[in-house]
Amino acid sequence: MEPSLVSDKEKIGVFACHCGRNIAATIDTERVVEEVLKHPAVVHAEHYEYMCSDPGQELIETAIREKRLTGVIVAACSPSLHEVTFRETVKRADLNIYKCEIANIREQDSWVHENKEKATEKAVKLTKSAIEKIIRNEALSPIKVGLHKKALVIGGGVAGIRAALDIADAGFPVVLIEKTATVGGHMAQLAETFPTLDCASCILTPLMSAVAHHPNIELHTLSEIENVEGYVGNFHVRIKKHPRYVEPDKCNLCNECENVCPVAVPSEFDEGLSLRKAVFIPFPQAVPSSYLIDANACLGMSPLICGKCAEPEVCGPQAVNFDDQEKIIEDDFGAIVVATGYELYNPTNLGEYGADVYPDVITSLQFERLLSPSGPTGGIPRRPSDEKIPKRIAFIHCAGSRDERHQPYCSHICCTYSAKHALLFKELVPDAEIHSFYIDIRAVGKNYEDFIRRVQEETGIHYTRGKVSRIYEQDGKVKVLGVDTLLDERIELEVDMVVLALPMVPFQGVKDLAGKMRIQIDGNNFLQELHPKLHPVESATSGIFLAGAAQSPKDIQDTVSQAGACASKALGILTQEKISHIPTVANVDEENCSSCRFCISVCPYRAIKTIDDKAHVEEVLCEGCGICVSACPSGVIDLRNHTDKQVGFMIKALAGEI
Ligand code: FAD
Ligand code: SF4
Ligand code: SF4
Repeated sequence: MEPSLVSDKEKIGVFACHCGRNIAATIDTERVVEEVLKHPAVVHAEHYEYMCSDPGQELIETAIREKRLTGVIVAACSPSLHEVTFRETVKRADLNIYKCEIANIREQDSWVHENKEKATEKAVKLTKSAIEKIIRNEALSPIKVGLHKKALVIGGGVAGIRAALDIADAGFPVVLIEKTATVGGHMAQLAETFPTLDCASCILTPLMSAVAHHPNIELHTLSEIENVEGYVGNFHVRIKKHPRYVEPDKCNLCNECENVCPVAVPSEFDEGLSLRKAVFIPFPQAVPSSYLIDANACLGMSPLICGKCAEPEVCGPQAVNFDDQEKIIEDDFGAIVVATGYELYNPTNLGEYGADVYPDVITSLQFERLLSPSGPTGGIPRRPSDEKIPKRIAFIHCAGSRDERHQPYCSHICCTYSAKHALLFKELVPDAEIHSFYIDIRAVGKNYEDFIRRVQEETGIHYTRGKVSRIYEQDGKVKVLGVDTLLDERIELEVDMVVLALPMVPFQGVKDLAGKMRIQIDGNNFLQELHPKLHPVESATSGIFLAGAAQSPKDIQDTVSQAGACASKALGILTQEKISHIPTVANVDEENCSSCRFCISVCPYRAIKTIDDKAHVEEVLCEGCGICVSACPSGVIDLRNHTDKQVGFMIKALAGEI
């Protein structure tokens, strides 16, 4: 075996962890210690039950001090779990944090092997490989940069509102941008909210008003992200603000313009169950509290075709402004919260349910509007086809959810909101007969199970475990066909109206936005968190956080909790004087760069540019992913503390050659 060439100044300590029985049941840690002590650089090695515990960390600190260790290897679980913990430990003993490495003998060894002998051999090799790395590690210091102490929140639903208010209340300026003409998101459309049955507007509208009046919040509606550049602490963002054509400061909500406008189109707020004019306010409590003109619906502004709403005898304060233009706003931010929410899955994809053919087959959000006192039927649900009050109604759970042909995941809240719908409907129509078709009842949340039980007791709802295969209308009735999977019987039911509990899907344009922001999406197109347990609100791009239903289907409670978590993470950045960036970044040997620019095309963080026709890494943008290193045909890019030389020695150690 070729000896590893090690400076005699190196004094490495190895600390092997049992992780209870997680590691010790499959790996002989005593033998790992004996074997690594044969390495010329190792001057100390020991094993312990829980190295991450306080006594475990104490062992490491003491050994560093007493043996004057120059490097530490912790042979334990994945670095994604405790690398930070152990780096903090060595820091307390005045060792540079980049002189601490983890050998992952749990996820990469004990958890995936059964043969103790071979697993122990592998653990020795993994640990020796880490030793080869650490003796060649540089003692690096984080890169420090200044920052902009301002946050950007994208999306003005309850998630974005909560995050913006929390950051603003802590004294930092926030820019909140919302794609539509008002903040509020889907919660503004809800009648009452489970499980407490609070009136949604009573909770939400004061928050909407607070956003509008908060001295630290700058609100831009009808606005979208055009471009994001930069990095944590220093994001440079271009925002496109579409024209409103009505000046909010002048509009006095007299609604005279609405009265004269000859154009009526389906109302988005009422999910197409009512009409609005081309000049309109989305709903009376909208924020900003002002009318706007829908340029697509208006008969024409350039050239002006109708212009009735702008006439002085109609709009007294002369708020209508047909010359309003699109604007680009540029600003710098230290942190960003993405809270762009959800949409319902398009019901026309479920051809067998006929939502686009039969008017009395409606979506859950449409039913929510029918239940709402501010809704199109004044809070008494009426059938869209003939405006009669339905008496027999069927709710179809999982209408497209948990279905490989549509959306494979559970939408998390449909069982509970369908139960809420049943309860509210029964209160409004006491002689109603209610049927609910489900796969399983999933009511996960505090007091949700009690809520479902209450609904069962109070409404006499008929729950049928079964999948509905077809819905069609005949003689003014809606027929529901399917199978009761508990009784193994065919179902054939005649009702007045059917409500489809459709999957929550990510907002339209999620891929485009994720691309602009360099954040990831998951297999179902929801925004991807960095780690489901350890970093549930962080995105893969440092300084960008994810809140609400944009990250996964969720209820208001979870949405608001996540928004609060995002705000506190953003404040963690904004309260710093300087931002620390990892120093383990790419480094180009510029003299030998062939100027092929291949690295520029592969870097997902746009961290490489050219200076004098040579590749140059913008260190604060580099996330150390290493893609450019493997892509560079001239082999002139290295990652600090992951150099080719280090990796070569690590491989030799794994192969048992040193
Ligand atoms: P949203 O409410 O979707 O808000 C997102 C906002 O971001 C929107 O205003 C949108 O216009 C904006 N936006 C999107 N893309 C962009 C962009 N690119 N740029 C700028 N802005 C953008 N939960 C409960 O707890 N209790 C209930 O009783 C309940 N009932 C429900 C009933 C139904 C039928 C449904 C479908 C859901 C129900 N929910 C309920 C869930 C609730 O609606 C969500 O938990 C909540 O609305 C999520 O808030 P959000 O801010 O994450 O998303
Ligand atoms: Fe309606 Fe457009 Fe005429 Fe104004 S100008 S009243 S928005 S159609
Ligand atoms: Fe870009 Fe290379 Fe840094 Fe990865 S390692 S972020 S590819 S410069």
